[in-house]
Amino acid sequence: MVEFANTRSYAETLDDTDPLQSFRKRFIFPTQKDGTPYRYFCGNSLGLQPQKAKDALWVELEDWAKYGVEGHFDGRNPWYGYHERFAELLMPVVGAKHPHEVVAMNGLTVNLHLLLVSFYRPTPERYKIVIEENAFPSDRYAVASQARCHGLDPDKAVVILKPREGEHTLRTEDIEKYLEEEGDSVATVMLGGVNYYTGQFYDLERITQAAHRAGAMAGFDLAHAAGNVLLELHDWQVDFACWCSYKYLNSGPGSVAGAFVHDNHRNKPDMPRFEGWWGTDPQSRFKMEHFELQDGAPGWQLSNAPVLAMAVHYEALKVWNEAGRENLRDKSIKLTAYLEHLLSQIENAPFEIITPKDPERRGCQLSLKFKENAKHVNERMSAEGLITDFRSPDVIRVAPVPLYNSYEDVWVFADIVKRAFED
Ligand SMILES: *Cc1c(COP(=O)(O)O)cnc(C)c1O
Repeated sequence: MVEFANTRSYAETLDDTDPLQSFRKRFIFPTQKDGTPYRYFCGNSLGLQPQKAKDALWVELEDWAKYGVEGHFDGRNPWYGYHERFAELLMPVVGAKHPHEVVAMNGLTVNLHLLLVSFYRPTPERYKIVIEENAFPSDRYAVASQARCHGLDPDKAVVILKPREGEHTLRTEDIEKYLEEEGDSVATVMLGGVNYYTGQFYDLERITQAAHRAGAMAGFDLAHAAGNVLLELHDWQVDFACWCSYKYLNSGPGSVAGAFVHDNHRNKPDMPRFEGWWGTDPQSRFKMEHFELQDGAPGWQLSNAPVLAMAVHYEALKVWNEAGRENLRDKSIKLTAYLEHLLSQIENAPFEIITPKDPERRGCQLSLKFKENAKHVNERMSAEGLITDFRSPDVIRVAPVPLYNSYEDVWVFADIVKRAFED
């Protein structure tokens, strides 16, 4: 374990030797009234804008102006096959081994529904879908409404796994135990890869194995995992996954989401799915006669690509890939460990960190659960030039993002928290 020091100059030394230091300049930080940039800790909610986002968007606006409809084939990045450019950049984000395992499309919750249509196929004996307590509301609504669409009562079909009494996060062995005992009735396991509230990174490989032993499908919502932790979905045999691109992937508010379908489910034309023209083979698409399924995850596409949003997504993914997933993870582990160290030094701090202590079981985010006044503390942080995020009733989430946050940011954050409680 590295020995950390508590001084600003020590934090600056860490920045000076940070191999990813130069990436900070490639993002735009929001500024306070006097023009100084905020210290931004909200990349878990909305990642910052890459400097080059505007140019990337501008290329497509220009081509649209110049070519009109011909831009589909004559543009600099022809729109007809626009989604195909993403496979190479998305594969490292989730650990796909084949380009056809990933696709950029739609919004996250839309993709979750499309995948559940195929991967949640309840029968009278096997009808449950397993989620975690504190799942993101949209995910809860999605699975409950899927159950209802199959004529099931969500109170019976949706199983919510809870941490043990007095604990904040779920133990993998408890998930395994549940699947061992009740797995016969489970159709699908669908957890968040990294829980948005606690910051816990689930052991996706062990959970997938346990689901498969029980005869169930395993899929994950990677909203807080994609771009944040190292994922190996192919090797882990995960059946399906989806994620959004505007959190750790910095692609802009509501930008296009992603989906993963394991090679094991490639080319299954009989698999139930919702179909649209973009899921068909591009060679025969304009014959418009019958549905000829496209290979792999792209076969789940419905509509043609939203090029303007995807132009920014592409640029943002390029920056992320240039930094490199291993480098990002290495820095992330150290940056968050530094934050944890500094916060643990604050005497009588009226909060507890509910995120797992084990770096393998978390991403960059730490969730601070306050005994009281969390909202007030968050407001004070904002007045002091920090952007963090408050989740009712008592949690402040802090995400030092390795692409653009510095060790000095972390030091300043901890210093402000410290002074807030010394007053
Ligand atoms: C951010 C987030 C969402 C948001 O869903 P959208 O469809 O992108 O609006 C859904 N689920 C989880 C777990 C999230 O963290």
